[in-house]
Amino acid sequence: MASTLAARSQVGRAAFKLRHGSNGAPRFGHNALMTSTDRSFAELHLHLGGAVLPRILYTYLQREKQNRNNPRIHEVATQYLRRFPTFEKFERRLTRPCDTLEQYLEAHKIVEPLQTHEALPYFINRLLRGCFAFENISYLELRYNPYFRVPKGTPLVEARDRMQEIVSTVRFAAAAAHKQFPIFFTQILCMDSRLPTEVNRTIVEIATEMREEVCGVDIAGPDEAYRENLPGILANLKLAKEQGLKTTGHCYETPEGCFPEMLDYLDRIGHGIQIPLKEPKLLAKVAQRRQCLEVCPTSYLRTGTLKSYSELKPVFQYCFDMGIDIAICTDNSAFHGVRLPLEYERLLTHGVIDFTMMEKCRQAAFRHAFRWPANVDHRRNVL
Ligand SMILES: [Zn+2]
Repeated sequence: MASTLAARSQVGRAAFKLRHGSNGAPRFGHNALMTSTDRSFAELHLHLGGAVLPRILYTYLQREKQNRNNPRIHEVATQYLRRFPTFEKFERRLTRPCDTLEQYLEAHKIVEPLQTHEALPYFINRLLRGCFAFENISYLELRYNPYFRVPKGTPLVEARDRMQEIVSTVRFAAAAAHKQFPIFFTQILCMDSRLPTEVNRTIVEIATEMREEVCGVDIAGPDEAYRENLPGILANLKLAKEQGLKTTGHCYETPEGCFPEMLDYLDRIGHGIQIPLKEPKLLAKVAQRRQCLEVCPTSYLRTGTLKSYSELKPVFQYCFDMGIDIAICTDNSAFHGVRLPLEYERLLTHGVIDFTMMEKCRQAAFRHAFRWPANVDHRRNVL
């Protein structure tokens, strides 16, 4: 019995040495694709509105209802808790499935007014804690529309100052959290298809002026509003490129959101799944421009765009065949209850990708990151 155990432990030690090398650090075979020692992820497409868990938002509301020091926030918390008297009701509203993208975006309207200048440090800290503890994220580009975090009706001149304060607050909150949660963090400022061109231009200007904090700009919003405001949207994307900013833009997410004019101005394509599905002839240009698709699998089920993960199979197949990179992202993980590693796993279990493709996508996300640092945090030893 004792000798069997000794033999087993010898085999175990030999296997451990093979897997880990003499210093105990894990190692992989020379031909293995998995080059990162910590298997961490880069998240390139996450909206602040859909990044904070409903439980954290609700706890915040309950706490602020008791806090009489800030009458405005106290009033907002009281109103929300009257509308959503239980956590379950609040969670159901934020996470319910939708028939259209427009309906889906309504959930953001509930969350955005809560993410004020004063509340953001708390939310950013909790968000980074979750990314570190549960997702093994080492690089995060967080996107949001600063204008939607400014009280409604604020004149644009004043709103501009408020937006800059918000960008600074997000930056300092993330820097403070970095000691505990070593994630390389940067911001993308979103324009919105429903906003006047002038407001969106102000967002581009702020991104230009605050380059330390902001790595790029995005355009988001309902498809119908894109159609109405397309010339202004294109002008602002052009301006962003002229200013040397990195750009990404929500387009080709739904069959109604196909705007080829936008593609000329984008470094990365937000979603873009309708290009391989509906207009594959555009893929050669996408490949030539070395644009990366930010694919957020669960979103398409929640917006009613797709019925099953397996419908994404031609998207990945076409792109791989054409040499187009795909970064897998979550979009609004807190609304979906699906964190980034699970997005990868769902694609695997539905036969959309295999392990080799999964690893290529994981590495592509770092390669297409707008601000991936040359030197990495030694606590993480990534890539
Ligand atoms: Zn998005």
